[in-house]
This record gives sequence, structure tokens and C-alpha cells, in this order.
Amino acid sequence: MKTTRYIATTFLALAVSAVALFAKPIPGPKGGRILTTDAPHVEFFVEKDRTVTVSFYDKALKPMALSGQVVSATAEAKSGKVNLAFAEKNGALVSKTALPEGDDYTVVVQVRDNASARPKNYRVLFHDEICAECKRAEYACTCDDAGKDHKHDHDDKKKK
Ligand SMILES: [Zn+2]
Repeated sequence: MKTTRYIATTFLALAVSAVALFAKPIPGPKGGRILTTDAPHVEFFVEKDRTVTVSFYDKALKPMALSGQVVSATAEAKSGKVNLAFAEKNGALVSKTALPEGDDYTVVVQVRDNASARPKNYRVLFHDEICAECKRAEYACTCDDAGKDHKHDHDDKKKK
């Protein structure tokens, strides 16, 4: 019996840590979304004028100087796909044009470490509103995404 309980506990612990891994998105220093899981980190941030700023950070989320990265993005807006080109500005790469009207569409961000490197694609679901819980832009929300639908399952106050 003891063994069974031990195994069950271990399983629970594993499940919890797996949830924790997914549940903790890294908050982007500028308020944007960190697209990467490993350093160097890439942050996708939408400015007030809806241009996109892509910044790079090291493991400790310290800003990294650009080293020839090439970024482009495709906004898959309902009105049609729009390609965004990026240019260097204040140590980051900023889109030359703004995101198209509306929200609730995917933005595919393509990052190359340098002009000849293989592109890495990251998908961001762009939502313009502010998250009521973490007060960040919804596309950069750091709330427990994986547990969002089960929020009340581990709400201790309700059980007591
Ligand atoms: Zn949130």
C-alpha cells in the first residue's frame, strides 16, 4: 500500500511540475511576449502605433546587442496577409509598417540568426486587449495558460 501511495505521489509531483513548466511564460521585459523557450530569447512587442519591436535577450533577460539577425513577420489578418519588414532601431528590430486593423489573428515571426542562417518561425496569436489578471497585453499574457480552463480545480479557497 505504501508503495502505491508513493508512486501516486510521485506521479502527482511530476504532473504538477509539467504544468508549472507550461504555466510560466517568461514575461517580456518590454511588456511583450517571449517567443523562445531558451536563450537567446526573442521578444515580440507591439508598440502603441502597432508597429512590432523584436528584441533579443540573454539567459538573464538582459538586452543583447543585435548581431546581424534578420526578422520578418506575416500578419494573418482577416483582411488578408500582410508582410512586415524590419529595420534596426535603438538596438532592436522594428517593423517598418504597423500591424493591420483588428486583432485575433496570428502573426508569424521569422527570425534568422544572420542573413544566411536557417529561419525559425514563431507564431503569436495577436490579441489587442489587456488581460484582466496579469494586466499585460493579452498576446503577452503570462497567466497560467495551460490551467486557464481548470482554474477552479486548484483554487484552494473553494475547497476549504
Ligand atoms: Zn494574463
